[in-house]
Amino acid sequence: MTPVLAVDFDETITTLDTVARLPKLAAEYLPRAEAAGRGRSWEQGVSSYVAQWRETFEAVLASPPDGPTAADRVDAFSRRFSDIENGSLTAIEDRSLLHGIPRAALTRCGTGIPKRDGADETLAEARRRGFDVHIISANWSADMLRGAVGDVGDIHSNDLEFDAEGLTTGRFLRRMVSARDKGVCLRGVADGRGRVVYVGDGMNDLAALLEADIGIVIGRKPDMQRVCEALGIPTYAMAEAGRVSAGESLLRVDCWDEIAQCLFERERVGVEPTADG
Ligand SMILES: [Mg+2]
Repeated sequence: MTPVLAVDFDETITTLDTVARLPKLAAEYLPRAEAAGRGRSWEQGVSSYVAQWRETFEAVLASPPDGPTAADRVDAFSRRFSDIENGSLTAIEDRSLLHGIPRAALTRCGTGIPKRDGADETLAEARRRGFDVHIISANWSADMLRGAVGDVGDIHSNDLEFDAEGLTTGRFLRRMVSARDKGVCLRGVADGRGRVVYVGDGMNDLAALLEADIGIVIGRKPDMQRVCEALGIPTYAMAEAGRVSAGESLLRVDCWDEIAQCLFERERVGVEPTADG
């Protein structure tokens, strides 16, 4: 059976979140005075989003959702952020902050995105060895992602809407907004395939991480660690991989070399998750 390698994009493949590149790119196609106004509007939107998000995050962690499985608890957790995520997208649309970008500029922008060491090589090697490779991302531009990862795999993400002239209209095609969306997407691409590995770095990856046979968290974001603790999701360093159980616990790595080892030298590393947890 064909194995699946599905990965998040921002801060999993890349070194930094790339979404702020989009309003900057839009500003390049505006008169300078108008660009400055949109820049201020973007900054205000970001501050308001971050404040609302942090307030909700602390409130949810103070009284974390209950539920019989880790996936149930993650689902309840992620639903608490749904209004904030959708509201921030609507605010960006209302202010036309991403209007007027040519498609080719988005692809070009993607080619310049700095990536974690070993990410490109591991994805290419996985594909060479017969894995189905998928990028599952809440990023806003499939063209930017395509520019960044080339044709290494299928891209599942939100996107920007284009007009007949090939310029962005400023509106989103909302396909991958929540953690739940990523989990549902992974279930779809895993259907009829073999072992499924998902790699992500953040909270919106949790549903997909739990859906996979092997969920791998890259990096050590303090918020992610707090959520895993609050929702009762054990994470084990790759060295302790023998203890991982599909659907209930996750593996933790610091770099793509460890992921390559897990994928390509599995017998040596000893990752043997059980299907029933
Ligand atoms: Mg990410």
